[in-house]
Amino acid sequence: MRRLTVLGATGSIGVSTLDVVARHPDRFEIVALSGHRQIDRLAEQCIAFAPRIAVVADADAAVVLRERLTGRVPTEVMHGVEALEMVAALPEVDTVMAAIVGAAGLRPALAAARAGKRILLANKESLVMSGDLFMREVSAHGATLLPIDSEHNAVFQCMPAKGREGVRRILLTASGGPFRRTPIADLANVTPEQACAHPNWDMGRKISVDSATMMNKGLEVIEARWLFDTPAERIDVVIHPQSIVHSMVEYVDGSVLAQMGNPDMRTPIAHALAWPERIESGVGVLDLAAAADLVFERPDLDRFPCLKLAFDALRAGAGTPAVLNAANEVAVAAFLEHRLGFRAIADVIAATLDTLPDQPSSTLDEVFAADAAAREVARRQIGARA
Ligand code: NAD
Ligand code: MG
Repeated sequence: MRRLTVLGATGSIGVSTLDVVARHPDRFEIVALSGHRQIDRLAEQCIAFAPRIAVVADADAAVVLRERLTGRVPTEVMHGVEALEMVAALPEVDTVMAAIVGAAGLRPALAAARAGKRILLANKESLVMSGDLFMREVSAHGATLLPIDSEHNAVFQCMPAKGREGVRRILLTASGGPFRRTPIADLANVTPEQACAHPNWDMGRKISVDSATMMNKGLEVIEARWLFDTPAERIDVVIHPQSIVHSMVEYVDGSVLAQMGNPDMRTPIAHALAWPERIESGVGVLDLAAAADLVFERPDLDRFPCLKLAFDALRAGAGTPAVLNAANEVAVAAFLEHRLGFRAIADVIAATLDTLPDQPSSTLDEVFAADAAAREVARRQIGARA
């Protein structure tokens, strides 16, 4: 029996995780759930899974959740970042799904690493912000890091069982998002609703905008650098609009191994939950004969400047990816609130990177200092444009 904490249970990945868990009551038990401010959904999840602990954003949210649960389940309700770190490190928990969105996911994911857990990592932002530090903590504490991001889960499945012998390149596939064919001149006026209407994947709003700008792929390149200890020069991005090939690994003998499947996050989630075994996920069989033609193209960096910014930030190293990530979070939030145009997301990130070129990142304090400085600069940039 695996005992789980699901951080970000109320989000897109969290809901898919609980869907897979519910199919295997003999294998998985939920010990703790977190849900920040989606109290209705978290209450339903607590009633369905009866976790020992549930964590929300603050004391007010905790009062509301306690009211909903009284007389239904004996779940203890806690709040705040320390509570998230605590449930990520509980002695009776062996597996932690890290599915909080954004920089807020870093501390709890790191707590799971330091407690030597099996970490199912959806929160790519934590590796972007502090990849070096995070990977050192994982190995120092004997934690196991399994990728949930569909591309990285695919690469993990295509890598040799041990080491990197014979691997030449990692090829990350990208759908190209909803604006792959939109005339570039029209991109300035696209709305949050258009940006969040992803052709293949149903995801949270932040990552949906990241997919539309392709910053998501940029963050994933940085994530791959750390997860697979592979330099930027050996990571390539290929546009593949059908999202059937989830990524590939190319070997020195010319072999290219791909992992395929329907675009449904329950496949990588089930893979990581059961690894090294395989379990049913609820995902339908892939009917290749019925699928459209599989198309592959090179990304256009004029259309997707965020992808170039991310590659540049990875090459610059140290705290620059943390600056990139924070500026992106602030810019995407402003875009979602109609305070910033779609094309200006990249401009704000570029200007923030120019303002903060050499941020250190050897300690967690330095990482959060770079994050805070970048948020400040990005907000000023957005204010100056209003
Ligand atoms: P989402 O917005 O649907 O859910 C986010 C979750 O985080 C919710 O449970 C929310 O309550 C919680 N949360 C939000 N802000 C918080 C804060 N400040 N403190 C604590 N908790 C907070 O997001 P999602 O699409 O499920 O994505 C989650 C993570 O997984 C992201 O890092 C994303 O990049 C990654 N990811 C998602 C997908 C996908 O298909 N959705 C695919 C690959 C990777
Ligand atoms: Mg992905």
